[in-house]
Amino acid sequence: MLINAKEVVFKALLHQYVDDLNMPCTCEKCLDDVMAISLNNVKPKYISDSDKLAFVTSDLVDRQTKTSLLVILVEAAAIESKSPHCKWKEI
Ligand SMILES: [Zn+2]
Repeated sequence: MLINAKEVVFKALLHQYVDDLNMPCTCEKCLDDVMAISLNNVKPKYISDSDKLAFVTSDLVDRQTKTSLLVILVEAAAIESKSPHCKWKEI
């Protein structure tokens, strides 16, 4: 099974920092959009062995990498906040 380690890391970061992102809507759809925007901005890091996931993600979350991934996440949240793709914008 292919796993994108970056996706796992982004998902963890997103859940950890969702309150700090000040998004007008944090429904599943909007969070998925933030994930999609973020992931399209980074090179994927695919692994085929889930046993290696912990090792690879710990490698990805050193302080510097984590900071740069967070910047991407914050930018993605800003883009999404301007035009949420869920029905929130119809209200
Ligand atoms: Zn939403």
